[in-house]
Amino acid sequence: MSYKISLIPGDGIGPEVTNAMVKVVEATGIGFDWDVVEAGEKVMAKEKTPLPEYVLDSIKKNKVAIKGPITTPIGSGFRSVNVALRQILDLYASIRPARSIAGEGTLYNDIDVVVVREATEGLYSGIEHWIGREKYGAETVNLITRPASERIVKFAFEYAIKEKRKKITAVHKANIMKYTGGLFQEVAQTISKQYPQIYFEERLVDNMAMQLVKKPSAYDVIVTTNLFGDILSDLCAGLAGGLGIAPGAIIGEKYALFEPVHGSAPKYAGQNMVNPVATILSGEMMLNYLGERKAANAIWTSVYETIKEKRYVTYDLALPEYTQKPVLPSTTSQMADEIARKVKEKAAIM
Ligand code: NAD
Repeated sequence: MSYKISLIPGDGIGPEVTNAMVKVVEATGIGFDWDVVEAGEKVMAKEKTPLPEYVLDSIKKNKVAIKGPITTPIGSGFRSVNVALRQILDLYASIRPARSIAGEGTLYNDIDVVVVREATEGLYSGIEHWIGREKYGAETVNLITRPASERIVKFAFEYAIKEKRKKITAVHKANIMKYTGGLFQEVAQTISKQYPQIYFEERLVDNMAMQLVKKPSAYDVIVTTNLFGDILSDLCAGLAGGLGIAPGAIIGEKYALFEPVHGSAPKYAGQNMVNPVATILSGEMMLNYLGERKAANAIWTSVYETIKEKRYVTYDLALPEYTQKPVLPSTTSQMADEIARKVKEKAAIM
């Protein structure tokens, strides 16, 4: 059997990191039939849109997609492909795990936290307007609805059970935003009662930011609204080793899309030098989603070992604060080859 997956290579460094991901994911021995569809800057001239219909058709048909980053053209009048994909496919749950792997150079080496972020509403609903004459002021609506809050909180609890996690922390600002924050808080409290096996707690977002910086290992799964989740997931990624190793997934009722947290880093495009791990671990998340847990674990362990050994690491992990002794940076493909070699060895005895 092979899985049919939509593969969107993306812009800038996207093709390099998605090639690396394909190499590693295929090293598990699992069959994949990649439906490669292009979106973003590179198709703009020909298709007159960065998100052609055939990309959406492919994802709707295959249900699962993995993508590289896509450049958002500034001032072109087109909305971001990423935002459009979320809205059109109703991808409402953004999942960003942050696990320490980069070793002694990171601030902490015991982080294992997942931020589950509501991705369709809140302050990112896109409801904005000017107030008064000559743009005296501006207003952005923080839309929080009961159904969207219920489905993200339920999603977080179900995710915690599936991933054998123990604790959920709901993050809000209900003391100040009494209606929007209060609604999210009330929903989280009510739904938590349906899951007595998972420990439930709450934090105000400002306190949460401070607690994460002080003791991130105390947190397991965080569920929160759009803007808070965006900020806290970047904070966790930074604590756990940075953009080069931060994977992500965005899941809806019907479709699932996996992608690294980082962008298309245009200045590094075509140089075979950026870290492929964020995209490789997005592939690992995809395998977990597909139920291929052993294969996903082989990828995770191989990435972990490769980074710990520090022999084949890209420039961002070859910095003195990570290595403590000089290390010649590897290329994207050398690092991916080493991870794939380790995965193959593990797959042979799976
Ligand atoms: P970026 O993440 O592309 O790059 C910022 C910096 O982070 C880089 O200069 C580099 O130093 C580092 N970096 C990023 N990825 C790395 C990797 N794999 N290995 C090592 N270092 C890495 O952010 P940006 O420059 O703000 O955005 C560039 C473009 O990407 C913009 O058009 C933006 O809209 C887009 N973007 C797309 C996505 C997405 O498609 N999901 C996400 C974020 C940004």
